[in-house]
Amino acid sequence: MIKILEEILKDIPNKNLINDIEFEGANIVLYTKDKEFFLDDKGIVKEIVNKIKKRIELRPDPSITMDMEKAEDVIKKIIGKDAKAGNIIFDYQRAVVIIEAEKPGLVIGKYGELLKEIKKQTLWVPIIRRTPAIRSKIIENIRQVLYENNDYRKKFLNKVGERIYKKWVKEKQYEWIRVTFLGGAREVGRSCLLLQTPESKILLDCGVNVASDDNAYPILDAPEFNIQDLDAVIISHAHLDHSGCLPYLFKMGYKGPVYCTAPTRDIMSLLHLDFISVAQKEAKKALFSSTDVKEMVKHTICLDYEEVTDITPDVRITLYNAGHTLGSSMVHLHVGNGLHNILYTGDMKELSTRLLEPAAVKFPRLETCILESTYGGKDNVLPSRKECEDQLMNTIKETIERKGKVLIPVLGVGRSQEIMVILEDMIKNGKLKDVPIYIDGMVWDITAIHTTYPDFLHNKIRKNIFHNDQNPFLSDVFTRVGSHKERMEVVDGKPCVVLATSGMLVGGASVEYLKHFAENKKNSLIFVSYQGVGSLGNKIQRGDKEVKIDNDMVSVNLDISILDGFTGHADRSELMRFVQRLDPKPKKVIVDHGESSRCLDLASSLHKANRIETNAPKNLESIRVR
Ligand SMILES: [Zn+2]
Repeated sequence: MIKILEEILKDIPNKNLINDIEFEGANIVLYTKDKEFFLDDKGIVKEIVNKIKKRIELRPDPSITMDMEKAEDVIKKIIGKDAKAGNIIFDYQRAVVIIEAEKPGLVIGKYGELLKEIKKQTLWVPIIRRTPAIRSKIIENIRQVLYENNDYRKKFLNKVGERIYKKWVKEKQYEWIRVTFLGGAREVGRSCLLLQTPESKILLDCGVNVASDDNAYPILDAPEFNIQDLDAVIISHAHLDHSGCLPYLFKMGYKGPVYCTAPTRDIMSLLHLDFISVAQKEAKKALFSSTDVKEMVKHTICLDYEEVTDITPDVRITLYNAGHTLGSSMVHLHVGNGLHNILYTGDMKELSTRLLEPAAVKFPRLETCILESTYGGKDNVLPSRKECEDQLMNTIKETIERKGKVLIPVLGVGRSQEIMVILEDMIKNGKLKDVPIYIDGMVWDITAIHTTYPDFLHNKIRKNIFHNDQNPFLSDVFTRVGSHKERMEVVDGKPCVVLATSGMLVGGASVEYLKHFAENKKNSLIFVSYQGVGSLGNKIQRGDKEVKIDNDMVSVNLDISILDGFTGHADRSELMRFVQRLDPKPKKVIVDHGESSRCLDLASSLHKANRIETNAPKNLESIRVR
C-alpha cells in the first residue's frame, strides 16, 4: 500500500470503519460502511488532516446510500421549489449527488444546513452546481461528458493521486529547477513553458499563435520535451495563445491531468471548438478534432483561486486571480518542499476593471517571477479607464448622430464582457441614449459562461447579481444575432453598435461586418484589444486603406479609433508597479509574452528599479531558476 495511506489508516481507531481508500487527484477519499461514523466521525478526519496537511474526505460506501429514485424525491423536498433545481445526477461509484440549481445558495441553506440534511437523510454527498442564467450549450455538453465518464474519471483521478503520493516522503529537498521556453518568449502567442525538476515535468500553458501561420505552434520537438514523460499541464487562462494547442497534446497521446479554473475549462473548450470550425471554413486542416477536446475535458481538474494542491511529489500549485479574463489565473508553484517558489503570471492586470478584481500581489513565498510584457515597452503607458470610457461614449454618440454604425471587434472573452458592462451602465444611467447593441459570434456563449461563475467576477457585479438580482449581462439593451439572416438585417438596419468576434479581425462575424461597414465613412471601427502582428486588425491599425477580405479588395474609409486602455493586460506602469508591490519581493524576474523590444526594455528597467536579476530569454532557452 502507498505509504501516505498507511499513515492515515494508522490514525483510524477501528480499522473496520474504513472499507476503501482512494485518491481523487491530490485529495484522499475514505469510504465507510458505518452510517454513524459517516455522519459523525468525532473529528477524527480533521485531526488526520491537521497532521499530514492533505485534503481528506469521508464518504459513505455506495452500498449504504439511499436508493436513487427515493433520494431524488427526498432531496427535492428538502431544497424546495425556490432554488429552481434542475438536473439531479447521481455518481454512484463516488457516492456523490450533483444538484444543479439556479439559486445554489438556497440549496446550501444557512451555514450549509440543507446540505447536512441531505447527507443525513440520504447518505449521499451533495455537490451543488449553478445553472447558467443564460442557457449555455457548452456547459451542458461539458457536464454531460463528465457525467458519462464518471467511471473513467474515478480511475483517472486515482492514478493521478498515485503519481503524486507514490514517492511521498515528509521531507525531501531537490537540487535543481529549470524552465525552458517552448513558445511565448520575446513574442505574443503560443505561450508554452516546460518546468523540470529531477522528479517532475510540467507544462505551463500550451498556446497557438492565431495571428500568424509561421511559428504558430509551440516547439514541441525540443530535446527537453517528451510527451510520454509529462506529469501535468497547467493552463493560466482560456485565450488561445495560452490554451490553443492543449487538445493537440491529447491527440498525441497525453493522458495526464490539466489544471485550471472551471471558467477556464469551459471557455477554452468553446474556443477550441470554434478554432476547429474556423479552420474548416478556411479549408485548412484543423490541428485537432472535437474528440481531442472531449479528452481534454475528461482529464481536466478544476481548482478554485487560492486552493492549494499537490500535482507531483515535489510540486504544489496554487492559482491566484490574475484580473485578465474570467477565471484567469497566475500560477504559484511551490517546488521541492520549500526549496523554491515561482510565480507565473500568465496574462494579468494590476488595476481593477469593471469586470474583474485586480491581480493578487501577496504570496506565502516567492523567489522567481515569470512576468508577461504585452505592454512592457517604455511607451506603452495607456490612457486611464475613464478617458477610454469617455472616448468610447463620444465615438458611439458621434457615429450614431451621423447615422453610422459602430463595429467593435472583440476577443469574445473578457473585453467583450467588459464593454458590455460599460455600455449597459451608460444606457442605464442615461449617458447614452437608447442605441441597439447587437452581440454576434461567440460573445454570447462566453457571456453565458460568465453568468455561471459570478464568484469570479468583480465584487460590485457579484453583489448586484446576488443581492439586487441585477445581472448586467441579462439586460434587455443587448440583442443576440444568431443567424446569417439576422446579421444581414443588422447590416441593412438602423444605426447601432455591434460587438462581434474575432477581436483581431481574423475570421468570424467581425470580418463579415467589416466587409459591409468598411467603405462608408459614416461608420466607425473601434479597436479595444491587442492586434497581433499579421492580423487584419493590425494591418488596418497600421493604416492600410485597401484590404483583402474573402478574396475581395475592400476600401477602408470608416472612422478608426484605437482604445488600448480597455486591455485586460497591465500596461508599462502597472507592470513596474506590480513587481514593486509583490510581497515578498522576488529575487529574479523572467520577462516573457511581449514583442522582443518590449521584453528587453521591461527586463532592463525592472533590473534598474529593483536591483534584482532579470532576464528576457528567447524561445528554446532554458533558465536554471535554482
Ligand atoms: Zn490572454
